[in-house]
Amino acid sequence: MGIDISRLRRQFGSFIALDDISLRIGDGEFVAVLGPSGSGKTSLLRILAGLDQPDSGSVQRDGQDLLALDARRRGVGLVFQHYALFPHLTVAQNVAFGLRVRPWRLRPKAAVIKARVDELLRRVELDQLAARYPAQLSGGQRQRVALARALAIEPRLLLLDEPFGALDAQVRVNLRRWLREFHRSLGITSLFVTHDQDEALEMADRVIVMNRGCIEQVGTPEQVYHRPATPFVSKFIARGQAVPGEVTASSLRVLGASWRLEGFADETWHAVEVHVRPEHIVSSPRPGEGLPARLLGVRHVAGTTLASLQVDGMHEPLEAAWNGHDGGRHASGERVTVQFQALTVFGLDREGRVC
Ligand code: ATP
Repeated sequence: MGIDISRLRRQFGSFIALDDISLRIGDGEFVAVLGPSGSGKTSLLRILAGLDQPDSGSVQRDGQDLLALDARRRGVGLVFQHYALFPHLTVAQNVAFGLRVRPWRLRPKAAVIKARVDELLRRVELDQLAARYPAQLSGGQRQRVALARALAIEPRLLLLDEPFGALDAQVRVNLRRWLREFHRSLGITSLFVTHDQDEALEMADRVIVMNRGCIEQVGTPEQVYHRPATPFVSKFIARGQAVPGEVTASSLRVLGASWRLEGFADETWHAVEVHVRPEHIVSSPRPGEGLPARLLGVRHVAGTTLASLQVDGMHEPLEAAWNGHDGGRHASGERVTVQFQALTVFGLDREGRVC
């Protein structure tokens, strides 16, 4: 059961938007497709929806070839960031639309359509606004109408492409929680495209991290955050920052300090890439013990101090995140001593790939 995507490829001229990606999505799973702009997220969704065809590869749903089916026969509900509602139809008429335009043999009776629309509007908490027109709704309400409209056809697969992208921050946060709960009660297999890390980590059962048409990692939010498989995932999800490091025997040297490596250095490694996260760069409790650095700038954001610092001997500045108490004591230009509390180490082969 579920969806099996195998070696899916989509090329536009010489540009590879999807590079032979393979993936399994379980029945009822809520999966976030996370990646920077241009990484291929929408290309994947469009193929699943039947709006585009791949150059090669297959998609099976419960053993059936999904790509062979016409878009309207796939049982797919779509919600896009700018999937505009019909402005001349009321909320209820918008939700009913997908059922009303069905060929007459497949079209439910008017009373059945009305009952389903009423039920959906109750579930998306818009039953009081059924007679309004889209222009009379807030952005968050409109997206809930779009969701109800997508659900009206009782889809087997729900595809959401940045559904909250155009909304302001507070509405987004509220709708995230709401959609997560709503999905639990529906249990429809859902793919949710976003480039927002917090959104993906907060909402999804599993996260697919995409980069340049490839899947870098598939895992639970906990796995991709705490155990990134590649330097890209570390940077993108947890703001990992590269620090110079080299492996000798079973220890790692980073900026003059020795770190014990768990297990032994793997002889297939050609080099290592070492990352430190902002929250793991701490101000040293004993001045003079640790790495000397200069504070380039200090910003206070919601109780956290973000410090940009230049560690002596490094080219690139690092960003540290300190809690208000720790960070409040420091000012730009000051010299400080910092320590790394934890590092993430990737063993790389000769081509720079993780091994
Ligand atoms: P965003 O977050 O910006 O929406 P995305 O990860 O969804 O990005 P896609 O829309 O899948 O990315 O696009 C992947 C790449 O494929 C982009 O570089 C895009 O320019 C290219 N691309 C997509 N559709 C076409 C097309 N019809 N013709 C040519 N190039 C395309």
